[in-house]
Amino acid sequence: MPIPRHALTEAAARLGTPLYVYDAAELDAAAARVQAAFAGAQVFYAVKANPNLHLLRRFAAAGLGFECVSLGELARAQAAGVPVGGVILNGPAKTDAEYAAAARLGATIVVDREEEAALLPPGSRVLVRVNPGAAVSTHDHLATGAARSKFGVTPEQVLPLMERLRDEGHDVLGLHVHIGSAVEREGDFADAFARVLALRPQTGKLGVLNVGGGWLPGADLGTIAAQARQAAAAFGAELWVEPGRYLVASAGWLLTRVVGTKRTGRNFCLVDAGMTEFLRPMLYGASHPLYPLWDALASDVWDVAGPACESGDMIARGVTLPTPQRGHLLLIGEAGAYGASMSSTYLSRPRPAEALWTGSEWQPIRRRESVESLWTLEMADSESGD
Ligand SMILES: *Cc1c(COP(=O)(O)O)cnc(C)c1O
Repeated sequence: MPIPRHALTEAAARLGTPLYVYDAAELDAAAARVQAAFAGAQVFYAVKANPNLHLLRRFAAAGLGFECVSLGELARAQAAGVPVGGVILNGPAKTDAEYAAAARLGATIVVDREEEAALLPPGSRVLVRVNPGAAVSTHDHLATGAARSKFGVTPEQVLPLMERLRDEGHDVLGLHVHIGSAVEREGDFADAFARVLALRPQTGKLGVLNVGGGWLPGADLGTIAAQARQAAAAFGAELWVEPGRYLVASAGWLLTRVVGTKRTGRNFCLVDAGMTEFLRPMLYGASHPLYPLWDALASDVWDVAGPACESGDMIARGVTLPTPQRGHLLLIGEAGAYGASMSSTYLSRPRPAEALWTGSEWQPIRRRESVESLWTLEMADSESGD
């Protein structure tokens, strides 16, 4: 943990909990690691992993482009300053408003199905997303390159779609393949790339091969990069990549406070963050490292539970912790990706604040939502005609 304990205690006192905290040096280091491993490739940050404008500006300044999947993400890209690396729009069901925004930003659009050929703005720059139908070692909800997943077209559909897009006057740059998120075996990437490479005799030379993201923090980037580079070279194509999690997961933590404990046969440590602030354990069965910021002589096995009235609202089960007490601070690690971005206001719980550690001080980068803001969009009686 690169942020000193006294700084975390101070942040909790000043900004309250639950609080997302990020380490600026680790964000920069992750971007530098990707750029070094994929030297020569264009790197697009997958905004959905963490869309905070302060992170986007930091990555844009480092030379990264943005990969967006919604109108809101395209608007964030614009608000952060469209990076020189450019913008990509992905998604299985894009709206007319998203196409129009992509066209205004000069984004490359990833075509996910045949119908899109007739829907795209005139003269779009496009990639065709191929679903390699590969086995992907991750949670079923995170596998996008398996045959049963909704993304992309089959390898057999790629050629006719490329021809149709060209006939409609679009600029077909090449192919896109993203097999999933939090992929556990590096070999899955090689397998997927091999399936895409089988198309080489039909496609001929391509301008771009975009191999997406999906790498776990700690993944062997050198191996993945070598496989990707080999595939791109076979197509005579420039290599593009779209990491999300890898860039931000290890640079973020969720700081939460112990509300209390109870022993009912199991030991429950109840904290002030749960599924509304941090959905990953409940949604994907994700397990995250926990760092208790207290010392105690005794330790025991604890289930760490959130405050929601949902049985699935557990941060972790069966973890050994020093005996917690009301007021103690618990840090949830590897929380920078798909943490804040998946937080919700379910149970009328305002979304948490976020702060960036610069190495010497805290820079608050998102205010805590107010309780009043929860109903500002709800009609007054006079407006709704009651
Ligand atoms: C989510 C997504 C990514 C990033 O995935 P990570 O697992 O966060 O690296 C990249 N490309 C596409 C198309 C995505 O949907």
